[in-house]
Amino acid sequence: MQVASALDVNAIRRDFPILDQIVDGKPLVYLDNAASSHKPRQVIEAISRYYLRDHANVHRGVHELARRATEAYENSRTRVARWVNAGDAHEIVWTRGTSEALNLVAFSIGQARVGPGDEIVLSEMEHHSNLVPWQLLAARSGARLRYVGLTDDGHLDLDQLEGLLGSRTRVVSLPHVSNALGTINPVREIGAMIRSRSDAVYILDGAQGAPHLAVDVRAVGCDFYAFSAHKMCGPTGIGALWGRRALLEEMPPYQGGGEMIEKVSRQSSTWAEVPHKFEAGTPNIAGAVGMAAAADYLEGIGLDAIHEHEMALTGTAMGLLAEVDGLRILGPASPEERAGVIPLVIDGTSAQDLATILDAQGIAVRAGHHCAQLVVDRYGLSATTRASFYLYNSNEEVHRLAEGVRTAREFLLS
Ligand code: PLP
Repeated sequence: MQVASALDVNAIRRDFPILDQIVDGKPLVYLDNAASSHKPRQVIEAISRYYLRDHANVHRGVHELARRATEAYENSRTRVARWVNAGDAHEIVWTRGTSEALNLVAFSIGQARVGPGDEIVLSEMEHHSNLVPWQLLAARSGARLRYVGLTDDGHLDLDQLEGLLGSRTRVVSLPHVSNALGTINPVREIGAMIRSRSDAVYILDGAQGAPHLAVDVRAVGCDFYAFSAHKMCGPTGIGALWGRRALLEEMPPYQGGGEMIEKVSRQSSTWAEVPHKFEAGTPNIAGAVGMAAAADYLEGIGLDAIHEHEMALTGTAMGLLAEVDGLRILGPASPEERAGVIPLVIDGTSAQDLATILDAQGIAVRAGHHCAQLVVDRYGLSATTRASFYLYNSNEEVHRLAEGVRTAREFLLS
C-alpha cells in the first residue's frame, strides 16, 4: 500500500539529523511524536544564533543587546500569535508549556469567576494537565467538576455535553485533539453549543492540536487556547496561552516577581499591562525564539499538507494493523476523524511488553496511560501502546511498525 503524500519526506528528514541513526542494529523509527517531536536544524540554528549574537535580559536594558533580545522575544510573540490567528500579540502569554498555561488559566480565571456551587465541565478524554488544575480549583473554591463521557468509538458524547451546560457552568475545558485516542473534536460546534446554553468560559487544551492542524481561535470561538512548542518542532520549556484580551485583563496574576508589576509599595502592588502581568521573572527568551522558528518551519511546509500526510499514514497503518489477529485500535474508525495517533491493544498481553519488543526493532512508541487515566479506564484497560506520526514519518516506517507489531504479537501469544 502506497501513501499518496503531499510532502517530500526524504527532503524533510534531511532537516532532522537525529532521525538518521541506528538503534539495536536497525534504522530508528521514531513514532513517539505525541510525547515530543524532534527539532529541525532551522530551529536549532535560530536558538544558537540568538545565544551567539543577541542574548541579554529583556525589557530592562537600554544597551544594544538588550534591545535586540527584547525585539527577538516580542517578534516571536507576534509570530506565535499568528500561529493560532490571534487578533493581537498581547493576547499571547508565554508559559513553560501547555501544563503551565492550563494551570495559569485555572488559577486566575478560577479566582476571578468560580465560587461555591459553580460547575466546571471537563471530559473523560482529558490529559491530566487539563484535569488536575481544575481539581485543585474545585477543592479551593467549592466548585463541582462534571464530566462529559466518551462513545465506544472515542468521540465526546455531545448530547451529554449539551445536557451538562446551564446557568451554573462557569468553565468548559476540553482537548482540541486527544493524545490518547487521536480524536479530533468538533471544537467550533462545541463552541456554538456552549454559547447558546451558558456564559461559561471555553478553554481548549491545544497540545495535540496546534502542532498538526491550522488553528484559528477566532473562528473556533474559544476564550483560551493552550499549546507547547516541543510538540511542534520547537524546544522544550516554552509554550503559550492565547486568551481573549478582556478576560486576561480581568484575571489576577498567576505568579509575582520582577517585570509583572507597574508599581510596588510596602503593602501592595499594581500590575503591568497584559500579557506582562502573567510573566514574572526572566523568561525563556531563547525558547520563544525557537518556538517562532518552529512556526516558520512548519508554515513553510504547510499545515494542510502535514495534516494530509498524517492522515494518509494513519489510513495505511490502520489498514495494515487491521490484518493483525486480535489487535484493537482505540478511537474513531475513520482516519479523517483522527490525528496521527494510534493506540494499540492486543488483548491478553501487556502494553509495556509490546513497546519493549518494538524498541528492540528500533521502533520508538509509548506504552502506558499517556497521562489520560480516565480514557484507559473508560475502555476497561490500564494501558495502551501508542504510535504517533509527524511530518517526517514515512510510508516505509508505517510498514516497519505493522511488521514489528505482527512479530511482537506472535512472540507474546506463543
Ligand atoms: N495536553 C495534552 C493533550 C497533551 O498531550 C500534553 C502532553 O502530552 C499536555 C497537555 C501537556 O503538555 P506539556 O507536557 O507540554 O505541558
